Amino acid sequence: MSHHHAAITLPRSETPATPFSPPARLTDITAEARQFEAFNGHQQVLQVQHDAVGLSAIIALHDTTLGPALGGCRAIHYPSRQAALTDVLRLSRGMTLKSAVAGLDLGGGKAVLLLDRDTELTEPMFRSLGQVIESLGGHYIIGEDSGTSVREMDWINLVTPHVIGTSARGGDPSRMTALGVMAGIGAAVRHRLGLDTLTGVTVAVQGLGHVGAALCKMLAVAGARLIVADIVPARVDSVVGGLSARAVEPEEIHRVRADVFAPCGLGAALNRSTVPELDCSVVAGSANNQLGEPADGAALHRREILYAPDYVINAGGLISAAMGLQGHDPNGPESRARVEGIGGVLAKIFQRSESSQSSPESIADLMARERLQGGRVRADIVEGASA
Ligand code: NAD
Repeated sequence: MSHHHAAITLPRSETPATPFSPPARLTDITAEARQFEAFNGHQQVLQVQHDAVGLSAIIALHDTTLGPALGGCRAIHYPSRQAALTDVLRLSRGMTLKSAVAGLDLGGGKAVLLLDRDTELTEPMFRSLGQVIESLGGHYIIGEDSGTSVREMDWINLVTPHVIGTSARGGDPSRMTALGVMAGIGAAVRHRLGLDTLTGVTVAVQGLGHVGAALCKMLAVAGARLIVADIVPARVDSVVGGLSARAVEPEEIHRVRADVFAPCGLGAALNRSTVPELDCSVVAGSANNQLGEPADGAALHRREILYAPDYVINAGGLISAAMGLQGHDPNGPESRARVEGIGGVLAKIFQRSESSQSSPESIADLMARERLQGGRVRADIVEGASA
């Protein structure tokens, strides 16, 4: 009987059986990470290793006070493991601040892959990473970042639901990021120039990638005058071909006369050499880590150039993904309204900055810390009540 029973219940596989391979090894490297300057009170840092599929990664969980840690997976080539660890720690803390200021019930986390220069991204690699994320039980939600895209998120989604930016969940977030930047530019122009419209306002856009190109289209619809640059000539051609925009060399874009300078490229657009050369009233763009160092923000403030803190103005993609996690259409009307709320958050930051005579980025940091404090207080009350 039992023999017969077993024969019935064993499913017939259509595909050949995969040979057994042990899953990824997970090592807690929090103690090692604590030695790094960028550690900043991380809750946990994990090393992921799965040689059979060529997976080596670090997952940093910075702060889950407000909710599960959410942050993308970066897949770029690092000069060393130290450089990768520093980057993941910096980015993961940045996500805590970003979610806190955006008013999301999410914490901060991030993942980086440790890749050799010629490593190809494969499905087994991302399935394995997905299994690790699944084993974290929802404490970490992964998404895309430099070097990864919808394809990798779909692979991860084959084994875990704790992923955003999949094709089933809205896909590429860059249009929603651009929508948030539009709202941020609007708030900055209203605050600094007293204008309620972008019609006739000159915007210099640095970088015409996913976000920059989408932003240019929206700016053109709003009647703004565009000056653009990219280090890839084809990207300039496609924007200038479709819209009326003036192209300048990449070295020129930050110093052209404009109302708004919008950094949408990579790396620190605002640094010791570029800030003194700016000829604009407002800096408001999508790029991450726009300030080379804190002193560059202070220099902008002294020059009375209004700076929209990067992690506040570029949160549109994150906000729409968070709406997706709550069951809304990430690109639908509720989500768009939440993303456009970035304008209101920035207006508040600019007002507080003016009345306290401190820089907008220091006010943004303060608002993030206030929200985390509030979160902690609420958590204490709940624990106290249940005890
Ligand atoms: P992308 O790689 O598609 O575009 C970046 C563009 O900048 C490329 O076309 C590149 O050639 C150009 N570029 C690089 N250096 C430049 C320079 N010195 N001068 C002129 N152009 C230069 O990236 P993206 O997704 O459009 O993101 C742009 C920035 O916004 C990045 O800093 C990214 O981290 C940030 N960001 C993006 C999102 C998103 O939803 N995609 C969300 C938040 C923040």
